[in-house]
Amino acid sequence: MTPRAWAALTLAGLVVTLLVAAVLLVPWSRPPAPRADQLAALGELPRAEVARAREFRGALRPGSYGALVVGLLAALALGLTPLGAKLVSLAGRPFGDHWIAQAVLGGLLVVLAADLLTLPFAAWRHAVVARYGLSTQGWGGWTVDLLKSYAVSAVIGAVALLGFYTVTRLAPRWWWAFGAAGAAGLVVLLSFILPVLVEPVFNRFTPMEQGPLRTELMTLAARDGVPVRDVLVADASRRTRAVNAYVSGFGPTRRIVVYDTLLREATPAEVTSVVAHELGHAKDQDVFTGTLTGALGAAAAVIVLYLLGSWGALLRVAGVESIAEPRAFPLLIALVTVAGLVATPVQALVSRHVEARADEHALTLTGDPATFEAMQRRLSTVNLSDPDPPRWEYLYSASHPSTVERMAAARAHARGGGG
Ligand SMILES: [Zn+2]
Repeated sequence: MTPRAWAALTLAGLVVTLLVAAVLLVPWSRPPAPRADQLAALGELPRAEVARAREFRGALRPGSYGALVVGLLAALALGLTPLGAKLVSLAGRPFGDHWIAQAVLGGLLVVLAADLLTLPFAAWRHAVVARYGLSTQGWGGWTVDLLKSYAVSAVIGAVALLGFYTVTRLAPRWWWAFGAAGAAGLVVLLSFILPVLVEPVFNRFTPMEQGPLRTELMTLAARDGVPVRDVLVADASRRTRAVNAYVSGFGPTRRIVVYDTLLREATPAEVTSVVAHELGHAKDQDVFTGTLTGALGAAAAVIVLYLLGSWGALLRVAGVESIAEPRAFPLLIALVTVAGLVATPVQALVSRHVEARADEHALTLTGDPATFEAMQRRLSTVNLSDPDPPRWEYLYSASHPSTVERMAAARAHARGGGG
């Protein structure tokens, strides 16, 4: 068998594994929250608050979709014309066209060029978020965060670029196999090290102080049979008024993180409700599942790119001879950008099902649907989220069920229909 045939076979195996994982691990069969309950919940929310949240979301929209369109156009312009390849060559020129300079500097230059084009939209977003009082950050702090995220991406990107183009040189016929394994390994590695190494670049985490709430949360975790090393508090208040909590890492790096804003805004019972939701993620291994499917997806993507690399017309429009050369990196970015736009609604759909299961877990664990509903209302109010967003936007990108869906699920649970 040729390397190409092996690649096609491996890809088929990965796709089947992904589909099986999606069928088995995603809780597809959650009962939908009755629309009548959703509308009743919406009717009970203060009208002025709903209007303000919708106004805020409307003000964000031109920036968000503008960034999406400009980002796509930039990726296509760089990848599907010789422009990007020329940019990569340019980066290598001061270094005698050395491949390492082309691979690392050229690659980072292409990404930076695309980032700079969408920067005005990010600034617009910050201006809107600040105008509505959701951000507590000035332009100085915003810029520092931006530079930090560029720095983190540059470090991870440089390692990935150097690794990838070393492999394409050493194994010109089999690079896809090493590349797929490397991409999968990188996803797993990032899942372990991001919470430990990268999150502290942006926030300070301190163990939740001893007291009734901490005792209550640790007892809740023990009762749930979920091994939690610690509950950490993030100093999110230095950039936002928004409230949140999440679980990150798995195995020895798993922890529950609660925003300090949540502790300030919500009652202890509501915090318990949020943490019960996060325990649901931990208990159902959602981070592990996400990492596993992410790793399989990344491996499959590398092989798809390799197979597309034999498409002569594609290489010609990009002005390159081989998909495996650093000058073809902009072409890879263009293909990955398009794939990302297509994958967004699929990821959102899976995420909403997983989140609904964690909600159900919280309702069962606390046995307190009234507090759960109060917490959802508070999340929506403080975070200025549209409790019942436009259907198209919900389908395209909503990672969580809407506020009214979550409130309706609590009501269904209270009636005993939520299982
Ligand atoms: Zn969640």
